[in-house]
Amino acid sequence: MKIRANVNLQSLNTLALPGRAEYFCRVDNNQSLAEALAYARANNLPVSVLGGGSNVVFRGNISGLMVHLATRGIECAQEGDGLCVHWTAAAGENWHRFVQHTLAEKSYGLENLSLIPGLVGAAPIQNIGAYGLELSERFVSLQALEISSGKIAHFNKAECRFGYRDSIFKQGAAGQFVITSVTLALNTEPNVDISYPALAAALSARPQGDDRKDEFSPADVSAAVCAIRRQKLPDPAVQANAGSFFKNPVLGKQYWQKLQAEYPQLPGYPQADGSVKVPAAWLIDRAGWKGAVGQNCAVHSEHALVLVNSGACSGGQLLQLAEDIIVDIQRRFGILLVIEPQLLGLPAQE
Ligand SMILES: Cc1cc2nc3c(=O)[nH]c(=O)nc-3n(C[C@H](O)[C@H](O)[C@H](O)COP(=O)(O)OP(=O)(O)OC[C@H]3O[C@@H](n4cnc5c(N)ncnc54)[C@H](O)[C@@H]3O)c2cc1C
Repeated sequence: MKIRANVNLQSLNTLALPGRAEYFCRVDNNQSLAEALAYARANNLPVSVLGGGSNVVFRGNISGLMVHLATRGIECAQEGDGLCVHWTAAAGENWHRFVQHTLAEKSYGLENLSLIPGLVGAAPIQNIGAYGLELSERFVSLQALEISSGKIAHFNKAECRFGYRDSIFKQGAAGQFVITSVTLALNTEPNVDISYPALAAALSARPQGDDRKDEFSPADVSAAVCAIRRQKLPDPAVQANAGSFFKNPVLGKQYWQKLQAEYPQLPGYPQADGSVKVPAAWLIDRAGWKGAVGQNCAVHSEHALVLVNSGACSGGQLLQLAEDIIVDIQRRFGILLVIEPQLLGLPAQE
């Protein structure tokens, strides 16, 4: 375990925001992680955790010790009747590589979550979701280390309190645990879900002459998801971004009906509890923010939900643009947008 001081984090976050960690430790096994946490406890250092850096905004420098997960390992265990298999992956495994690994091993159920950036350990934090599937639907349990004690902890699905882009690790247990591995239940028989309209449309556009008609394999679904994502979302390596910057707001039915009377084109997706989810992108676009330019940052010209670093943006400048959008959307629609990425570090003096 090697602890370095004053480490530059700019290349370790997909928004390419500047920021330095007071102390930084890359851990490639759980023993090193335990030692790093013990070091932080002995020296009264606050601990923060970094995975792939695809869902964080550095407000400024990070005080204390930042641990960067680089642990590896994927294991499979047969369950029950043999139609269900449990896969356990170390927190430092790349999420997309894990998805591809399970598909190659004929375990199905993660195909809709292909190509989401980041590492396995971060996936439960915001209950990653895409194309009609959320991680919670495949989740069995996770293992973590408690930062304050170094003790091993286990969380089952109920204990994680998953919600839309939410879990206990963003609420009551925020900042208290480092997730070390995640276990998911997958199927040995394919059972694809292509109910998400954009996915169904992409698959139905399969080239003529393909005689498989309407049969789609999990590999087909994964390939279609990857193709849509590559076409639709800006690549952080080309244009620094953190994917969706705001969560889609969920409205009470009455308020949704009131808004829809005023804005008949406003899309709405009814939820099981009677509430209605509306696309934050529609609200931001309608308010005229698509392509708007802030200080060293902008709203993407084709994706109203994506904020991009135009070159030398600080966390403060990016958050100022986000704040301007939030205030305007609240004024126009009476809806409070919530920022999706996690904010790390204290605001810098600018
Ligand atoms: C282009 C793009 C597209 C995206 N598309 C989607 C999408 O479709 N759906 C979706 O849900 N998300 C999406 N995201 C967001 C992001 O990919 C996910 O949230 C991902 O799970 C973040 O993983 P990470 O390893 O990069 O986490 P990081 O950004 O490193 O960390 C995110 C948060 O989790 C904490 N954390 C990370 N690892 C651990 C750990 N092991 N233990 C405890 N805490 C930890 C961090 O402290 C931080 O608070 C997208 C991002 C980008 C850039």
